Amino acid sequence: MSSQRPQPPGRWPSRAIRLAVRALPPGPTRDRYRYEFLAELYGMSSTRQMRHAAHLLSRSLLLRAAVNRERQSSTLELIMPVVAPRKRLLCRLNVRHKWVRRLNPDREVYLQCRHCGKDLYDVERSTWPNLGGNVAGLRGGI
Ligand SMILES: [Zn+2]
Repeated sequence: MSSQRPQPPGRWPSRAIRLAVRALPPGPTRDRYRYEFLAELYGMSSTRQMRHAAHLLSRSLLLRAAVNRERQSSTLELIMPVVAPRKRLLCRLNVRHKWVRRLNPDREVYLQCRHCGKDLYDVERSTWPNLGGNVAGLRGGI
């Protein structure tokens, strides 16, 4: 009585599969496909293993194209494009802000820029030269 144990992948089919997955980008994707294809060989006759490995090898470039296409357009990127918030140039240089009145938690009024969110108090305290505001005594200095 012969036992029907699953036959492990043969030497040449294993090599053919390793060669086939080399077309894929290195890393976890390649490893996953290699393990998957090797697992498919278990239980096949040696002739069938060779035929299956040759088929995978002949399709390796198509598989690479499919994997690369999948990597390029991730669903998350399509749904949520990442856009860096941009500040107006006039705000970044502290040349001009659009001040609006706001209330702090203590119900005190302060001025905040509508575009960049800076407080007037912080802008006046900043050490960066204020090109459009309090230079040369325009705001009551000197
Ligand atoms: Zn601003």
